[in-house]
Amino acid sequence: MEREDYPKDFEQFITKFATEKDCYDYISSLRWPDGFICPRCHCGRSWKTKRSLIVCTDCAYQTSITAGTIFQGTRKPLRLWFHVMWWVMSQKTGASAKNLQHTMGFRRYETAWTWLHKLRRAMIRPAREQLKGTVEVDETFIGGEEEGAKGRKTVTKALVVIAVEVEEKKLGRIRFRVIPDASASSLIPFINDNITPNSTIVTDGWLGYTPLKKENYKHVVHNITQSKGKASDLLPHVHLVVSLIKRWLMGTHQGAVTPKHLTDYLDEYAFRFNRRLSTHRGKLFYRLMQQAVSTEPASRKKIIS
Ligand SMILES: [Zn+2]
Repeated sequence: MEREDYPKDFEQFITKFATEKDCYDYISSLRWPDGFICPRCHCGRSWKTKRSLIVCTDCAYQTSITAGTIFQGTRKPLRLWFHVMWWVMSQKTGASAKNLQHTMGFRRYETAWTWLHKLRRAMIRPAREQLKGTVEVDETFIGGEEEGAKGRKTVTKALVVIAVEVEEKKLGRIRFRVIPDASASSLIPFINDNITPNSTIVTDGWLGYTPLKKENYKHVVHNITQSKGKASDLLPHVHLVVSLIKRWLMGTHQGAVTPKHLTDYLDEYAFRFNRRLSTHRGKLFYRLMQQAVSTEPASRKKIIS
């Protein structure tokens, strides 16, 4: 198959994925671009049954095309999954479970919710390139006290560390992580995991960042006492991203995000944000599909727990 083979618009989409077989073949070509190799005997000869099992010609090993993907064990047509994925990727600001339920006519809210969570799991996938160049890093609380619970505030805030690439004063890519506290032992591993060595890291004067001196980075500290300005002027790019994400959580999801699932939502936001300049929605669909076929399935039970 040609690399990066995806429909450019909805018309191409419905032509390309007209049957279940089209969808199976597409998944198969993404998973095994050079053809299926038997994991048991390593031969490259196989055939497909009518029920989309792959059978090794030499040793008769069997596997399904969707085993080990988020589609494993689904009772719904793949065409519906593809359709939902296309729809989710074409919602500029993301999709809520309620939206999805209405659009696709799912009888149960839970179905829509579970599907979106499966797709979010596919969005997080590692294999991401680290941020580089100049990167602003800061922490913030996301969430808040629940409305109408005066005097008995439910603490629903989560502490989140954010890294934002800054290219010529413009926003580049972003990363998030929910952290238990703002100590160095929470902050430094996040930076090591997400930012290439020798990058320039801009933070405020918080002690948690002091060990950066010993790491392989150039550390620039913006100090509130020096700037005499507002805290938001210190790290303007990070603060812009923080306000965007808060608005997104309140808007698209109407604040209905529990701290337990915040990571998933932040990952979805980063997935969309980091690809916001992609011109084709087909390309977003393609990226999500690539990740969906290499993401282990999770049951609804596992998602909730
Ligand atoms: Zn075999």
